[in-house]
Amino acid sequence: MGNGLQTRRTVDELRELQSLTGDGNGAQRLCWTDTWLRAREWLAGKLAELPVQTEIDQAGNQWATLAGESDRALLIGGHLDSVADGGWLDGCLNVLAGLEVLRHLAAQGRPPLSVRLVSWADEEGARFGRSLFGSSAAAGHLRPDEVRGLKDPAGVALPDALAACGVQLDTAGDSQSQLSNAAAYLELHIEQGPVLERLGLPLGAVLGTFGVERHLVRFTGQSAHAGSTPMDARRDAFAAAARFALDIRDIAKGAGGVSTVGRVVTRPGIVTAIAGLCEVTLDQRHLDVNTLGAMLAKAKSVGASIAAAENVSVEWERIWRIDPVHFHSELIGICEQAIVEVAGHGHRLPSGPLHDAAEVARAGVPAAMIFVQSLRGLSHTKDEDTRPEYIELAVSALDSAVVRTLDWARAR
Ligand SMILES: [Zn+2]
Repeated sequence: MGNGLQTRRTVDELRELQSLTGDGNGAQRLCWTDTWLRAREWLAGKLAELPVQTEIDQAGNQWATLAGESDRALLIGGHLDSVADGGWLDGCLNVLAGLEVLRHLAAQGRPPLSVRLVSWADEEGARFGRSLFGSSAAAGHLRPDEVRGLKDPAGVALPDALAACGVQLDTAGDSQSQLSNAAAYLELHIEQGPVLERLGLPLGAVLGTFGVERHLVRFTGQSAHAGSTPMDARRDAFAAAARFALDIRDIAKGAGGVSTVGRVVTRPGIVTAIAGLCEVTLDQRHLDVNTLGAMLAKAKSVGASIAAAENVSVEWERIWRIDPVHFHSELIGICEQAIVEVAGHGHRLPSGPLHDAAEVARAGVPAAMIFVQSLRGLSHTKDEDTRPEYIELAVSALDSAVVRTLDWARAR
């Protein structure tokens, strides 16, 4: 095949990485661990065979630069870190597909723009609970004081884990200089959901990432004896929360978004008492910021009506929120053209999970993503899988999108 793109090699290298850094329970590349560092060294070994300059920035992100005619750069990103007992594709597919694209480009001489592969540090936040560490540092969105106190389950402090890998929390933001010449950013990722499989499509162009509204909703009634309190005299906080948990599903369906009550706590939480207090978490997501706001307003009004009907009170506390991120419309079009070229049929879909691409887009760099189908929609489990022939198609689509984006960026 000579200088051609060897898509099969990506599948082989994914398996090689899995055997090096995984076990019978799945991938074990938690960030800031020896296993993650081993993966990073393994990638460095692959990159050493290419005419690229490599560096690790102040946030622990690993970069490989293929110099082009111009300093302006097209970035291709992914992440080698995984959750514990993770899948063999989440994050590392993008890195290894990008590696193959770099090989292909390097074999054709000097590209018009520099092309830079980045493996972002700690995308998952699996150890310390802070996702998108490296990309948010590079995007200028990391606040050291907000993460300084984080500890892993073993009690190790985040700054110490970083320092063991040569990263100083207070200077991680200096990695912002990495984005200064960025003309565009492309990321290939597994879908991690069931949409493309349901449609029978291997690939899709991603419109953006959902905005998120996350709240603690607290219903307060009156604890009372389960035997002596007549049914019409109860102020049952759990019953109110249960009705609420069902209604937020209809709000999401009606708005084309998603809503989840993922946790419920009752007090006193015993079999012989009516729950006087019930706290639930609510996670609402939508790609449109106004619709997301409307979903929240509707949930609040439904919560108030249910509270009145159940003779309890309700309070809301925001845990976290983030705006939706819309990817660059011309780059979405380019990704779709690349997908049609290799797979014959395009499709556009939003992303429910957050990705590094969202941080890069928020920093003002034109960004877009390609999704490849996930079998059964599974991810963050060793059962995560994608057909090898679809992985190969995805590598081809990324390669085509890179070539098209180089043309697009040169003309700008
Ligand atoms: Zn990922």
